[in-house]
Amino acid sequence: MMGILGHRKLGDFEIWAVRAGTVKMDGGAMFGVIPRPLWEKRIPPDERNRIRLGMTCLLVRTQDETIVIETGFGGKVNEKLREIFGLDESDGLLASLASVGVAPEDVDRVIVTHLHQDHAGGCTIWEKGGYAPTFPNARYFVQRVEWDDAVGADAQTVNGFRMEEVLRPLEKAGVLNFLDGDTEICTGVRVVSTPGHTRGHQSVLVASGGETVCFVGDLVPTSHHLKPIYVMAYDLYPRETFVNKQAILNQAVQDQWLVVWPHDPEIGWSYVRIDDRDGFATMDRLD
Ligand SMILES: [Zn+2]
Repeated sequence: MMGILGHRKLGDFEIWAVRAGTVKMDGGAMFGVIPRPLWEKRIPPDERNRIRLGMTCLLVRTQDETIVIETGFGGKVNEKLREIFGLDESDGLLASLASVGVAPEDVDRVIVTHLHQDHAGGCTIWEKGGYAPTFPNARYFVQRVEWDDAVGADAQTVNGFRMEEVLRPLEKAGVLNFLDGDTEICTGVRVVSTPGHTRGHQSVLVASGGETVCFVGDLVPTSHHLKPIYVMAYDLYPRETFVNKQAILNQAVQDQWLVVWPHDPEIGWSYVRIDDRDGFATMDRLD
């Protein structure tokens, strides 16, 4: 089905890894201080040093709720940036949701790991001369610290956000819930604070019937970032990424979490095991 990378039952819930398009980012920036000869073996760059990445969201259906985690760019990029980013949204989030029978009105909650435009851009949509929430009946969940840092952005951080197209319209519509650290959102769904990429970055844990799926967000953007020192140059607090990544991956191994990779070019999710060489590695299924 269009834009669907994975689908399975999780206890009493049903989950889908949903594509919101693909994008090309500078390979060097995606791997921080790691020299190109090491990362290019994992993801070969194009002639402009860019690597293709996915934008993957998670759709969760519990018995009574429909929840979307992360939203992609949502089309809000001008032609110049669209070219620089090689942005392809032909498999957009709304089309992908529609392919599994979910309309925007059906969504009860939207959770974003942080407010960067490639994660929160799709929270709003152009409608009758202005931007409005894409999911008209949903509450939107974000850490309060993330919001404060986004609306108070400075020259180093401002380009990651879409103030007029995304943040202000959400604020004006009164649909935001600001969270202070680890919080249960509803039965089986909670967020945990995982700073590093940004100060207010959060990850999402969905659990039912003894099984857990973890949406790590940019703490581990792709399955090629499992090695703890593979930290993006985009991260504002790289040391915290290094520490928090190991903590959450160790827990993912121990508790057998299925982990969703928000920017992996190929795969939606995998289990994680300890690896002698890289610290951690993916595995398809639990043995
Ligand atoms: Zn980001």
